[in-house]
Amino acid sequence: MSAATTPSVRLIDNYVGGQWTPASGPDELDVTNPATGEVLARVPMSSSSDLDAAVAAARAALPEWRKVSVIARARKLFELREGLEARKEELARSVTTEMGKTIVDARAEVARMIEMVEAATAVPTTMQGRIIEDVSTNVDAETVRQPVGVCAAIVPFNFPAMVPFWFLPFAIACGNTFVLKPSEQVPLTQQIAFDVLDGLDLPAGVVNLVNGGREVVEGILDHPGIDAISFVGSAPVARIVYERAAKAGKRVQALGGAKNHMVVMPDAVLDKAVDGLIASGFGAAGQRCMAGSVVVTVGEAHDKLMPALREATERLRVGDGLQDGIDVGPVVSSAARDRIRDWIDRGVSEGATLAVDGREPEGELPGDGSYVAPTILDDVRPEMTVAQEEIFGPVLSVINVGTLDEAIEVINSSRFGNGVSIFTESGASVRRFRHEVEVGMIGVNIGVAAPVAFFPFSGWKDSFLGDLHAHGPDAVEFYTRKKTVTSRWFSSGQGSGAYFVEK
Ligand code: NAD
Repeated sequence: MSAATTPSVRLIDNYVGGQWTPASGPDELDVTNPATGEVLARVPMSSSSDLDAAVAAARAALPEWRKVSVIARARKLFELREGLEARKEELARSVTTEMGKTIVDARAEVARMIEMVEAATAVPTTMQGRIIEDVSTNVDAETVRQPVGVCAAIVPFNFPAMVPFWFLPFAIACGNTFVLKPSEQVPLTQQIAFDVLDGLDLPAGVVNLVNGGREVVEGILDHPGIDAISFVGSAPVARIVYERAAKAGKRVQALGGAKNHMVVMPDAVLDKAVDGLIASGFGAAGQRCMAGSVVVTVGEAHDKLMPALREATERLRVGDGLQDGIDVGPVVSSAARDRIRDWIDRGVSEGATLAVDGREPEGELPGDGSYVAPTILDDVRPEMTVAQEEIFGPVLSVINVGTLDEAIEVINSSRFGNGVSIFTESGASVRRFRHEVEVGMIGVNIGVAAPVAFFPFSGWKDSFLGDLHAHGPDAVEFYTRKKTVTSRWFSSGQGSGAYFVEK
């Protein structure tokens, strides 16, 4: 995306009240293919009146959508699943073209997107309440779950297909209506997803799409017509969203940035550990919130690991993610490329050893792309900023420590707590590690331990603000509110006696 606009290319629409609708805001941005620099489309920076229209449509749709039976809502999700499945290659190509990750990775993302819909179809079971008879003589108590109302999601650039679907299917399954604000850097994949949604004949206003940036986000945070907000993005914005939305009395979950560690023990199966570190550190060019960013080697693991890790890193092919045989695509924008190069310079100036230098990728790269090749900074110390701050690019920092206890100390000193992995064959080490690390998602001999749709995405510390996580059982908790009914009936002749007075 760039601030300059290219008028000859298509300007995308919002989707409001069941109609594709042009935004009224005067500003637009280019959406760029980071592999080539080609301008793919233009995205409108919607105004507050565009948001108002979407929220009004979502509010108006609530009574009708709530009346649709839970089974019929689940059936709509089965249709949604089929519609996405039929267009999964188109969705994956869109992800690669606007965001840059390889097509293999994009296909995996779209598979996860569809898995979210599958998990949400369980709503007739997952949304059930609880009941108990005779809390007092002839008095019964029950809790039912009802929709929260109008729910909004604000999402980042790095998963254009999947992250919006951490929320949308679960929200509408529970009888809510929904407003999505995609990342202005990658708004095109959701145009396809909403085209599929458009084909489902949902009541107008059940799902709405408002493109834009900060103005729309701030409008969502303050809007009296919005009841619940899900945010995924960088840590500073997550904090703003969490505080401001909570102050406005909304239910809110805010998933922030990360700095994920991968511990390699001396008894790790070395080639498998190298595969895991490479996939985690350099997949999606390091632009995943679950990307391993710091390798913590314990004792002799460092010297055993480094030659193989360096060699595997240097073998990776960088280029346009749509081409066969490419391992690492571009980063999302030229601004991101420059920022990542600055981080590498900073690591070197702080005293790290540049074991693999990817600042100037070799070979012929297409067009005007935004490339940084995989980079390894060795001899990093925990106090360096490259060890503490999120780089969000294909850069692995390596810290060597003497013991597992020291590795756990390094991990627990981070302000983030999203993901962590350990590579070892020792059950005892794993037991201690998983018990003691202050991190919410743990991989054992797995580089990217992102939970499947049926489990919560359970980040900790600055990586997550809120109580209820995205997807899994938490999604139904987040998207419903509980109502508790205590009742008795007199006509049976049994309902007499004072409630609270036990006989
Ligand atoms: P970002 O914070 O820049 O943007 C996220 C969303 O917030 C976008 O929709 C954007 O339009 C909006 N936004 C940006 N700045 C804003 C501001 N000042 N005020 C209001 N709204 C604003 O994040 P990004 O660069 O798109 O995504 C990358 C970040 O997301 C990384 O930090 C990554 O770790 C994080 N992320 C976290 C998770 C997780 O599960 N914890 C998952 C994916 C990505």
